[in-house]
Amino acid sequence: MRALIAIAILHATLIDGHGGAPVKDATVVVRDGKIECAGVECSVPKGIKVFDARGMWITPGLVDAHVHFSQSGWADGRPDALDVRAQYPYEQTIGELKAHPERFARSYLCSGVTSVFDVGGYPWTLQLHERADTSWPHVSAAGPLLSTLDHWLNLPAERQFVFLKDEASGREGVKYLAAQGARAVKVWYIEENEAALMAAGDEAAKAKLPLIVHATELARAKAALRAGAKLLVHSVWDADIDDELIALMKKNGAILTPTLTVAGGYARMYESVVSKKAPEIDDPNHCVDAATIAKVNATPSMSDPDLNAAAVVRISKRTSDRVLLSAANLMKLVEAGIPIATGTDAGNPLTLHGPSIHAEMLAMQTAGMTPMQVIVASTATAARAARLDDITGTIEKGKDADLLILSADPLQSLDNFRRLKYVMRGGVLRGVAELRGR
Ligand SMILES: [Zn+2]
Repeated sequence: MRALIAIAILHATLIDGHGGAPVKDATVVVRDGKIECAGVECSVPKGIKVFDARGMWITPGLVDAHVHFSQSGWADGRPDALDVRAQYPYEQTIGELKAHPERFARSYLCSGVTSVFDVGGYPWTLQLHERADTSWPHVSAAGPLLSTLDHWLNLPAERQFVFLKDEASGREGVKYLAAQGARAVKVWYIEENEAALMAAGDEAAKAKLPLIVHATELARAKAALRAGAKLLVHSVWDADIDDELIALMKKNGAILTPTLTVAGGYARMYESVVSKKAPEIDDPNHCVDAATIAKVNATPSMSDPDLNAAAVVRISKRTSDRVLLSAANLMKLVEAGIPIATGTDAGNPLTLHGPSIHAEMLAMQTAGMTPMQVIVASTATAARAARLDDITGTIEKGKDADLLILSADPLQSLDNFRRLKYVMRGGVLRGVAELRGR
């Protein structure tokens, strides 16, 4: 780590996050952790340290607008999906996640992610931002979720799911979140209960907190938007979206996070349990810590009485159908001009904190977005979704100096984000090798 007071990065091609044409031979001047000047008109102050980035590209640091620090990236954080509690007791897993979130912080920076939005978890996630110095990404957090399903996955003295059973519980839940410093009100709209949802939305508006909703069915997504949702944290995957949904999103100025890859992680986990072959790990820069990798590699030794080859085929088919529909719906929204924010749902099984951003960005491109559209979704718009856009998400004067230096053109291939060389967070420049997790 090098704590720099001032540095000028010279001669790189600048992609600033706003979506305009890249600027060749640009200069970025950084002072006291902030961007002082970016573009071709910047003068380089005398005596300042310079970094010659000729032949390289500068982009804003990536923003993952859908993560969960209360989940590990494996089954032990989601025993409702694959019950491994005999070997990995749930309270132990959550205890470790709470004690050592810094392993994920490092993995994010190592993967080029300089900001994250934790959209649901235990109350301690609301304090993570206090730890967010330049060795951490910025963290914005929603805290415990209001869930219309009375989910059992809690701890004896801590809840990540607050039961949204009626209007009164919706209002009480929002008041609790506002008092705890939540940056948004997340509703897990799993069981239909429109009255409770509307009450939560009304109370969130009073508290000046954005309502953000998990609603993967078209009818529920519309209900969420009628309740005032500003962010849908997943795609709709049960039906083709229609003009009514688009009109509701426009009315609210709502953003959508497609999360195209998370369901595939579950499918690959089940496949590994049945085939007894370890899942592939897509972590090109070795950002993920050894303990997490060891858990992933233990997948084939797990078992589930309900899992067999036929079940895996069924799950994989359902997953690929949903992804195809999600991708088609994503493109309808893009064409309608709805803002899209990249988010991985990291922490879910095999969606690993940090490097999962690369597969997600590629999936968005495969769906039909241009590389530049994906870059804007992964920087400026994701920062807006996370309520961090006043301090980060684009490279412009006054914002935090959160940027990446790449050795190849990301507009040629988004895979070039996997080959990033340097990550700057809050003005501190680090080589990717310094940030490795193992
Ligand atoms: Zn999620």
